[in-house]
Amino acid sequence: MSFDAHVREALAQLHGTGLLRIPRVLTSLQGPEALVDGRPVRLFCSNDYLGLAAHPKIREAASRALADSAYGSGASRHISGTTDLHNRAEAALADFVGMPAAVLFSTGYAANLGAVQALVGPGDVIFSDELNHASLIDGCRLSRARVHVYPHRNLGALEQLLHMHRSSGRAALVLTDAVFSMDGALAPLVELRALSERFGAGLLVDEAHALGVLGPHGRGLCAALGVRPDVLIGTLGKAFGAAGAFAAGPANTAALVKNRARSFVFSTSPPASQAAAALAAVELVRDGDPLREQLQHHAETLHEGLLALGYRLGPHASHILPVLVGDPEPTMRLSAALLEHGIFVHGIRPPTVPAGTSRLRLTPMASHMALHVQQALAAFASVRTLLG
Ligand SMILES: *Cc1c(COP(=O)(O)O)cnc(C)c1O
Repeated sequence: MSFDAHVREALAQLHGTGLLRIPRVLTSLQGPEALVDGRPVRLFCSNDYLGLAAHPKIREAASRALADSAYGSGASRHISGTTDLHNRAEAALADFVGMPAAVLFSTGYAANLGAVQALVGPGDVIFSDELNHASLIDGCRLSRARVHVYPHRNLGALEQLLHMHRSSGRAALVLTDAVFSMDGALAPLVELRALSERFGAGLLVDEAHALGVLGPHGRGLCAALGVRPDVLIGTLGKAFGAAGAFAAGPANTAALVKNRARSFVFSTSPPASQAAAALAAVELVRDGDPLREQLQHHAETLHEGLLALGYRLGPHASHILPVLVGDPEPTMRLSAALLEHGIFVHGIRPPTVPAGTSRLRLTPMASHMALHVQQALAAFASVRTLLG
């Protein structure tokens, strides 16, 4: 088969199974009232949970840094790509999550890929929740450690796997999302911490969807539960309304990540303006209690409203509301019908979620008005018949 034919066949297969992805285009600011493909909509599929992405303080911090520094950072962090802003952002983020040190990455994908690969390797063993984010899964692959996947949040199964396989690895690391990105479930962090300690394993918690949203001052689920992980991953592209991510932990852990994470060492450092935006975002998140209350209120209203309309939601109540459909085609049809009613909620299909569990992933933002939430529920009421 020619290479071109191979590519065409792969695309045709995606198309035939309803899995071809074509991004819709936003021509407004990221916010509750957006222009999507030229049409005014209420945006209900953004991870900008606190509504900070378009905040003037973040944009001003980035522009100020841009005025004072180059746009491109020119080299990787270990060469000539480290500025005072990068170091200050790392210190502020470490302080925010109550850890001694943090390492800044360009994206959360790069942070997970790099942190896991830096901290365990061949001869070590990883225990990973089956619904962990793709970037953690890819970090496992890159690490070449032996990987044991445990059923979603299943402590009994994890304990059994630790019993059977912990001693076969030099070092062991348990990996979990804090709030699972596609079903909104919370990880049982207190129990995971106790189990990993009992078996002499480290615990890495990815706080991507918890940081800024849960815990005192938005410090995340670990802080909410009083759990101290060995490595905490935070992303800045979601509730922080910015971009980038960090891996936080004890000074030695951060030093090892800085030295060994391939996505850190072999990658041009993020622009200084990105670090400046992160610094501004930390302040806004820390002072964001009213935003968190608003988000929580919208999430509860949507949860109750959708249940009352007869929709099937996930078993967990959080700010991520999975509206379960099943197959990709009806999921995308429902999404398109909602868009006709001015509500933009994207469909989530395999491989992002397991086959047979395609869903709409509805996410409110603190910046939604009560009216937007009511408009969303009205649209869901109108398209209900599509599901039979
Ligand atoms: C989004 C996400 C990431 C990746 O972060 P980016 O900054 O978007 O690359 C990592 N982990 C989880 C759980 C996520 O949801």
